[in-house]
Amino acid sequence: MRSGVLYVSITYRTTGHMCCCGCGEEVIAPLAPAQWSLVFDGETVSMYPSIGNWSLKCRSHYVIRRNQVMQRRQFTAKEIADNRAEDRAAIEKYDRAQLNCDTPHAASGEPWSPRAWVRGVRRWFA
Ligand SMILES: [Zn+2]
Repeated sequence: MRSGVLYVSITYRTTGHMCCCGCGEEVIAPLAPAQWSLVFDGETVSMYPSIGNWSLKCRSHYVIRRNQVMQRRQFTAKEIADNRAEDRAAIEKYDRAQLNCDTPHAASGEPWSPRAWVRGVRRWFA
């Protein structure tokens, strides 16, 4: 990956970039409801929430808003631990919600997928 470029794969629901602190480490931020979201406004991209590279040596923390990187303060060890616990809880909550999914697709036994969801919406509009 090249520095200063945000790579986005919709197919693999993930993004990648070189750490914005310049340490040379790769940063992968998966796109998922309980992880990161990407907003493309037609000209620029933003990612939510912030990127906290707690597992890297640099422990950099920044936000990507409208193609700009803005550095945020580094977290303390306790804040990092709390943040990781919150992330884990959010992912587990999302996974549980998916397992208990009460959608027409779940009832029909059809596995959930964006394509299935689009078909469902099309049927609904029809
Ligand atoms: Zn870094």
